[in-house]
Amino acid sequence: MTPDDVLWTVFGFDAFRPRQEEVVSRLVAGGDVMVIMPTGSGKSLCYQVPSIVRSGTGVVISPLIALMRDQVEDLRQRGVRAAYLNSSLSQTEARSVEGQLAAGELDLIYVAPERLLTPDFLHLLEMIEPALFAIDEAHCVSQWGHDFRPDYVELSLLRERFPTVPRVALTATADTPTRQEIAERLLSDDALHVVTGFDRPNIRYLVRPDEGAARPQLLRFITEQHSGESGIVYCLSRSMVDDVAAWLCTQGIDAIAYHAGMDAAARDENQRRFRVDDAVVVVATIAFGMGIDKPDVRFVAHLSLPKSLEAYYQETGRAGRDGLPSDAWMRYSIADVIQLARFVAQSTADEAHKQLERRKLDAMLGYCETTTCRRRVLLAYFDDERDEDCGNCDNCLQPQDTWDATEAAQKALSCVVRTEQRFGVGYLIDVLHGRNEERIVRNGHDAVSTFGIGSDVDAPTWKAVFRQLIVRGELASTPHGGLQLTERSVDVLKGRTTVTLPTRTATTTGVTRARQSANTAVRAPVDTLGPKDKALFDRLREVRRALAQAQQVPAYIVFADGVLADMARLRPQTAGALLEISGVGEKKLARYGEAFLETIRAGD
Ligand code: ADP
Ligand code: ZN
Repeated sequence: MTPDDVLWTVFGFDAFRPRQEEVVSRLVAGGDVMVIMPTGSGKSLCYQVPSIVRSGTGVVISPLIALMRDQVEDLRQRGVRAAYLNSSLSQTEARSVEGQLAAGELDLIYVAPERLLTPDFLHLLEMIEPALFAIDEAHCVSQWGHDFRPDYVELSLLRERFPTVPRVALTATADTPTRQEIAERLLSDDALHVVTGFDRPNIRYLVRPDEGAARPQLLRFITEQHSGESGIVYCLSRSMVDDVAAWLCTQGIDAIAYHAGMDAAARDENQRRFRVDDAVVVVATIAFGMGIDKPDVRFVAHLSLPKSLEAYYQETGRAGRDGLPSDAWMRYSIADVIQLARFVAQSTADEAHKQLERRKLDAMLGYCETTTCRRRVLLAYFDDERDEDCGNCDNCLQPQDTWDATEAAQKALSCVVRTEQRFGVGYLIDVLHGRNEERIVRNGHDAVSTFGIGSDVDAPTWKAVFRQLIVRGELASTPHGGLQLTERSVDVLKGRTTVTLPTRTATTTGVTRARQSANTAVRAPVDTLGPKDKALFDRLREVRRALAQAQQVPAYIVFADGVLADMARLRPQTAGALLEISGVGEKKLARYGEAFLETIRAGD
C-alpha cells in the first residue's frame, strides 16, 4: 500500500497536511527526520503511516504510559496490529507481546525508553526487522530542559546498533539549543528538519481581570459555551480545588477534583473518568496534566494566575489537541499578582534567579493587561513574531476601548506616598474614597491630602489602575503585602509618561462562538450546526457514549467530535456515503457504521 492508500483506508483522511507529507516520504525512503510541530498538528500520523507502509515493525519510544495505551487502542480499532510494552503490563502480558513482535505480527510497537534499552529487548530488535524508530517527546534528551530523562541520552546507541533503520524524533516544544541536542544525539547528520511555529490557531484566548465575580463568570462561560463538554479548571491551591469542584457540582456541572492531597484511589478514578468521558470538567492544581493526552478537551480555565508564560502556554496547550476550536479562559486578580510577587521576593534563591522569576512574572502580567492581540504577544515571547492580528482572541474579537488614566495613576501614587508606603490596595482605595474607617482614622490618614480625592472612580477601576502600575514596574510590593514606589514612579508623578487603561465593559464573559467562526479559518463543526443538526449530533453522541462504555475506551476513540458533527450535517444514508466523511476509515465503518446510520436514518 502507498502512504495515500493507508491514509484513506486506515485513517479515513483525504490528504496529508503539507508538512506531514514531507516527513512521511522521507521516512518511507529510509531517511531521518526531526519534527518540531505544535500539539494537534498531526505528529503521530508522521510515524504511524510509514510504519504500516514499510515492512517490519515501527518502534515508537514514548515516556507517557497513558498516551501509549490510547494510541494503541485507537490503532487497533482501525485494524492496525499495534501493542505496547511498559511497566503497566504483567510479565505474562509482556511475554505475549514480545512473542508477537518476534513472530513479525505487529505493525507498531510502543515501548518505554527504559524497556527498550534492556539488553534482552535490544537483542530481540536485532532478530526482527524494525521499520523505523520514532522517538516521541524528544526534548526529554535535553539536559537543560525540565523534562530531562537520562534514558533518552542512551537512545543514541540506536544509531550504532541499527544504522540502516530510519529514525524520527518528534516534539512540540524545543528551543534552538534543544533542537541541536536532539539532532546531535538522536539523528544522522543529513536528517531532514521540519520545524513549524508554536502557534495553536484553534485556541481562542480569553483573559480578563477578576472583578469579584470570577466563579459565576466561569459558570456562565461553561454553561453558555461548553455545556456537556470536557474541560480543565486550574486553581492555585488544593482547598480552592475542592471548593470550586463542589460548587460547580451544586450548579449542575459534572465536575471532579484532582490534586496531590487526595488519596491515590480517588485520584486514579477521577483521572480515569476524565479520560474516558466526553463531558467531565476536572478542577485541578497544576499537578494535573503530565501524561494527559485527551484530544477533546474543549477549554482550559485559569482561576489563578500562572507564574510564567511558559507555564500558561503549557497548561492552555492541553485544550484542543484534536485541532478543533477550544478556549483558554482566565480570570486573574490583583491579589494573585501581589501573592506571586511576594513568593519571588521571599524565595531563598540567589538574586540573579529572583530577577529572572520577576521578569517572567512581568511578562505574564504584561500579557494579561495587553489591549492588543494576545496571540501576537504570546508568540513574540517565544520569538515567533507575527505581522498580523489573529482574529481569534478576545482583544481581536472585541477590541477594548481605552481611557487616559494618567491623572488617576498620579493620585494613586501620591496616596501610596502619603500613607507611608506600607499599605495594600484595599486600604489605599478606602483612603482615596475618603472612608472614615477606624483604622484610617487611627493612622491619621483621614487628614492626608489624598483622602477622598478619588471618590469619583469606582473600586474595580482603582484596582485596574494599581494593577497596571504594578505591571509597569511603577509600584512594587513590599515583603508584607503593601505597595511602595520604585525609581520609575517619578515619571508618572511628573507627567513624563502616560498610563492608558482599557475601559471596563459590562460583558466580561467575552465573545460568542458564532463570532469566532466568522473570524477564523478554523473549522468549527459543532458551533456551526443548526438546531436540528445539533439535536442529531447530541443523539449521535449518546450512541458513541454507549459504544465507548461497552468497551471501556475513551469516547473519541470511537469517532472524534468533528466526525459526528459532519454526520449530523451531511446525514449520510448509506455505508458508502458515511465512508466519505473525513476520519471514517474502513474498519471503523464496519465496526460502528450501522449503529450511527440507524440513528441518522431515524431522522428528526
Ligand atoms: P499531535 O501528536 O501533533 O499533537 P495528533 O497526531 O494527535 O497531533 O493529531 C491531531 C489531530 O489531527 C487528530 O485528531 C488527528 O486525527 C488529526 N489529523 C492528523 N492528520 C490529519 C490529516 N492529514 N487530515 C485530517 N486530520 C488529521
Ligand atoms: Zn488576536
